[in-house]
Amino acid sequence: MARPPRIAVVGSANTDLTTFADAFPRPGETIFGKSFDLGFGGKGANQAVAARLCGADVVMVAKVGNDLFGAATVKNFAALGIDTTHVGVVDGVSSGVAPIFVDADGQNRIIVVKGANDLLKPADVDAAAAALRGVDTIILQFEIPLETVYYTVQFAREHKIRCIVNPAPALPADLAPLSVADYFIPNETEAEALSGLPVRSIEEAGACAASFHKRGFQKVILTLGSRGSLLSSAAASELVAPFPVAPKDTTGAGDAFIGSFSVFLAEDASEKEALSRANLYAALSTTRVGTQKSFPPRSEFEAERSRRGAKH
Ligand code: ADP
Repeated sequence: MARPPRIAVVGSANTDLTTFADAFPRPGETIFGKSFDLGFGGKGANQAVAARLCGADVVMVAKVGNDLFGAATVKNFAALGIDTTHVGVVDGVSSGVAPIFVDADGQNRIIVVKGANDLLKPADVDAAAAALRGVDTIILQFEIPLETVYYTVQFAREHKIRCIVNPAPALPADLAPLSVADYFIPNETEAEALSGLPVRSIEEAGACAASFHKRGFQKVILTLGSRGSLLSSAAASELVAPFPVAPKDTTGAGDAFIGSFSVFLAEDASEKEALSRANLYAALSTTRVGTQKSFPPRSEFEAERSRRGAKH
């Protein structure tokens, strides 16, 4: 390979503020928690980190607030070698944060404050145009304004840049401007919400993917948790087998999958091979607790890949 893949993420960056306690406080009550964890998150940032750990040169286009979390987010990207030239720091609004409360049963309650992520506009994509024109692939999710997602899909099309849309979290979106993306990658919940069809079995997953093709989408990939992923085009669909693991925490598996898939594909693996590798990369991420913290470096991924051989 002549050079590492170049990947851009136009997307969100959040800070997850997780508090563990025996129980949730009642209204008006103050309690002591057991422990606290600060983690970098946001689907955009997670996918950028996965792509970087897989060896890509990564450009992040995002907005953070002029606060502690924004500065820490930029520092985290920079420490990983992600290009932060186009991570804007904006006054008067907080960074994206997600206060998460987890009780003794592992149940969580989460409030996401989108903050600066909501200010990432088409003009920011224009401002990053020179950098974006030089990448192999642009990846988008739904944690920034949808108008920016639609605009960037069109930008990628005009400049013949491969575009991956991960419609997460599930939101009522206009599918027409998204259908020109090269790859549309929802999980089961998002696929159900956007198609109105159930996705309980592999057959239903195929029918759901077919409904997206009817609406103009070319390549659809459904991530199916422990069942692997389904690659679908108007002509055919194929289940790509998962790798068995003992999962500890599946948070961020979808982000590990998308970020790594973008890299394997840009390295000229076939689609099926890239998907199989992304299945393994994402599966490995479930064997550790945390989101970005659970993503393995490329060397570890390759060691595991050769250990497992071609066998699943
Ligand atoms: P999300 O994290 O968005 O809910 P999924 O649960 O579909 O997405 O997981 C994304 C990918 O991660 C799957 O397609 C699969 O490759 C891998 N994966 C997730 N959970 C498991 C599991 N329990 N065992 C093996 N692979 C898994």
